[in-house]
Amino acid sequence: MKVLDSGVFIEDILVKGVTTRSVSEETAVPATIEILEPKTEFVEKIREGAKKSGDLDVLSSADIDVLALALEIGGMVVTNDFAIQNVASAMKIPWEGSGKSITHEIKWEWYCPACWKRQSGKGVCDKCGTDTKRRPKKKKGRV
Ligand SMILES: [Zn+2]
Repeated sequence: MKVLDSGVFIEDILVKGVTTRSVSEETAVPATIEILEPKTEFVEKIREGAKKSGDLDVLSSADIDVLALALEIGGMVVTNDFAIQNVASAMKIPWEGSGKSITHEIKWEWYCPACWKRQSGKGVCDKCGTDTKRRPKKKKGRV
């Protein structure tokens, strides 16, 4: 079963599958697409995985729901979102790119572009108050 991210509907690609309530709230979803809601425990698993890969702070709750639903029903994520693709790769959830795709799985880290201190996530530097930025820490295997 394919779990469709909002980009699929925006690009108007003809695919069959299901999507989440949160995606259907941000995008016009055809009536033929079944709308499901992931269980909280799977949402939590995705949040943990995304925290590890360094993607959590760039994912919306709709992005997390898409991944959680795919994990729950054993489905394949269809998305053009690089962060969703990266988390899916890291968590061994099958995915298919609609449009552009990543070529490698990346482990991200947050840092301060002013004083270079490593930070735990999106926000401001705990040392100098500058907005934090994200950079690849490690390029892992090809996806
Ligand atoms: Zn700083």
